Amino acid sequence: MSKTDPKKNNFLKLRKAAEEKLNKNKSDLKTGKDLELGLYKIELELQNEELLRTQQNLLSSINEYTELFEYAPIGYFILDVNGVILKINETGSKQLGISKTKILKKYFSTLIKHKSCQDRFYLHKNLAIESGKKQQMECKLIRHNGTAFYGLVESIKVKDEHNKFKFLLCTIVDISTQKKQEELLGNSLKKEIKLNELKSQFISIASHEFRTPLSTILTSAELIERYTKKEDEEKKQKHYTKIKTSVNRIKEILIDFLSADQIQKGNKKNNPKIFNLVDFMESAIDETKSFNELHSVKYTHTGEKQNVFLDETLLKTCVSNIIINAYKYSPKGGNINIKTEQKKSGSIVIEITDEGIGIPASNESNIFEQFFRGKNASNIPGTGLGLSITKKLINLMGGEISFKSKENIGTTFTIRFGTKIEPKREIKTVK
Ligand code: ADP
Repeated sequence: MSKTDPKKNNFLKLRKAAEEKLNKNKSDLKTGKDLELGLYKIELELQNEELLRTQQNLLSSINEYTELFEYAPIGYFILDVNGVILKINETGSKQLGISKTKILKKYFSTLIKHKSCQDRFYLHKNLAIESGKKQQMECKLIRHNGTAFYGLVESIKVKDEHNKFKFLLCTIVDISTQKKQEELLGNSLKKEIKLNELKSQFISIASHEFRTPLSTILTSAELIERYTKKEDEEKKQKHYTKIKTSVNRIKEILIDFLSADQIQKGNKKNNPKIFNLVDFMESAIDETKSFNELHSVKYTHTGEKQNVFLDETLLKTCVSNIIINAYKYSPKGGNINIKTEQKKSGSIVIEITDEGIGIPASNESNIFEQFFRGKNASNIPGTGLGLSITKKLINLMGGEISFKSKENIGTTFTIRFGTKIEPKREIKTVK
């Protein structure tokens, strides 16, 4: 044993303390044997005291660690190699809203909501055990009452003194608030990206689509200037019409872009009011007649003739879009059939049929997408916005839009609204 051997030092300290204590009580001891026994007894008593002190220190540090384990701000789960829960701290049981006894011996994966995430946890656990490196995953966890929260799960292998697997320590941190914020941020980012896309699409379409009507306006205006004679009046009228058509085209594009922008920003609101469907349809047909190129338009209404309760402005945008498309995508002089039907229940059907180019079957599923244009429509001016706007607005009003079409035969667009009970019209006298 070296001079600094702690065991020897302890023994010497103990012997010295025992001798000092014995010297004080020497008078009580009669023989040398008594002396030796007394010395051992005191040594034992001192050892006992030391042991008690150590035990107390140990107990208080165990208590400290237990408190640290139980009340840590994160949930601790001790799992065996198969992922069975052996121990859980107070925070963990609070996170899941379940008593500790009820959760023990359960598979940790049963706390995970989705099957795909349970499979991910299986890989995560195995990787943590095999690699010895900390693993991390995010998933939805289910509380005992069935509600769910987003958790960050971290797992690390703990080894015993022989460097063998002892247990897997999993921690859960509730990250629901963070996830919600991320989601909100992601949504506004998506909105921003969509808006930017819309702006750049606008610039490219506007520069392309405005070119033809603008140059028509310029040419017609220049020609009108030159027609000074009385007999040129007819030619002048022709060019006035051309100018009007071109201005209409520009107006149509601008309205489409403005509506798309408003919808994107969530600024379009449904404000239903009472109006008469037949009067409404007649004015919609009248307002779009500048797009009519010798088409024959027939409008019929069947069923009830009561007022309807819808957003008139939004419905006007939708119906006008479809009527203008019927003009645009069918040959000059073609028939356009417009029908409305109002049932006793209050439900409404609006149908617009043309005998035009039709929608190719392969394009049918895309027709309501923003900026989508049919493959047979490339030589007809358009932005591909009208139908996507129409569908969004119809849905906003609680209705549905569908279509039936056959290439080179024609297309029917149908708008439906369910039961709309007309609210009693209150007659108020304003004094
Ligand atoms: P735009 O008419 O400006 O291209 P829309 O969103 O109104 O945009 O229409 C999208 C596409 O749907 C059109 O490009 C066209 O291919 C097709 N389409 C719409 N209405 C009709 C119709 N009545 N007949 C044939 N095709 C149509």
